Amino acid sequence: MHCPFCRHPDTRVIDSRSTEDGAAIRRRRTCPECGRRFTTQETVLLMVSKRSGVTEPFSRDKVVAGVRRACQGRPVSEDSLAQLGQRVEEAIRAKGAAEIPSNEVGLAILGPLRELDEVAYLRFASVYRGFESLADFEAEIEQLKVERESNRTPGDPRADRKVQGATDSASKGEKGES
Ligand SMILES: [Zn+2]
Repeated sequence: MHCPFCRHPDTRVIDSRSTEDGAAIRRRRTCPECGRRFTTQETVLLMVSKRSGVTEPFSRDKVVAGVRRACQGRPVSEDSLAQLGQRVEEAIRAKGAAEIPSNEVGLAILGPLRELDEVAYLRFASVYRGFESLADFEAEIEQLKVERESNRTPGDPRADRKVQGATDSASKGEKGES
């Protein structure tokens, strides 16, 4: 590997250790030419296998591009898209597999996208799950309503965060001081 500072074509490894979770190896390297040090990280390259049998490296950018398309015209920020991409990648990497079928990537997108924007979720789900009729949409919308009314998952920190902006009761208890 060449030196990222002076482009010297050869560098020397001075230390090698696994990360805490064991998912990667970090190597401390030094350049014999300029003497500077840097760190590299070695991880398993996560591959996605398509139905055609072709495999390609997992791409968070591709995930985000697909979701961005579904979010067209919706009030969804680039920040939210980036966060969703990160969540999807983390969920997939947490499975610990070196190769996953492409439909699992789609599945991993559905949950976070539903929290982000229900309309975009319906668009994405309609393509991804191949909705064929109005009844498919109606069933999915019914499901969304039911889950919204059952007040989301208790203990989900995301649910709490959403409520924060609307609450003003938090400060009421501390007014007795003046
Ligand atoms: Zn160098």
